[in-house]
Amino acid sequence: MTEPITGIVTPIRLDYRYTPGASTSQFLRSIKEGKLVGRRCPRCSKVYLPPRGGCPMCGVEFAEEVAIKNTGTMVTFAVVNVNFANRAVDLPYVTAEVAFDGTDTTTMVLLKGVAPEEARMGMRVKAHWLPESEWDYSLVNIDYVEPIDEPDADFESFKELL
Ligand SMILES: [Zn+2]
Repeated sequence: MTEPITGIVTPIRLDYRYTPGASTSQFLRSIKEGKLVGRRCPRCSKVYLPPRGGCPMCGVEFAEEVAIKNTGTMVTFAVVNVNFANRAVDLPYVTAEVAFDGTDTTTMVLLKGVAPEEARMGMRVKAHWLPESEWDYSLVNIDYVEPIDEPDADFESFKELL
């Protein structure tokens, strides 16, 4: 009996050119300056980070820019045992969905500074940015988040973001 083929390795490369819209362009310019800037929906008042052109729930254009803090709540997370293709990280690592304070959306970032088995929903965290000389037009400027000495957020305060 022949052995089953359970997997193959096929290197794949995809080159593409991304053209951000006006709202994303403004966000990328801000993050290159070390600032998180979201946008508020004039109808439902939700703040999106990164901002889009308009609110996907209300169908109206955003207007107001909102400065977002570097602290936030880890809404959920995943313990990962597979490394990045282009970035070496000690395994296992934790990817966190963080609602930065002042937003109504989550952003996926790396969690460091805590053992994976100690990560928990509601953990309060702070963004750790790359050195300023490395800032680019990318959320990767936030190298990772790490726990801060604050009590965990109450589940009721972030359950709508799951
Ligand atoms: Zn809205």
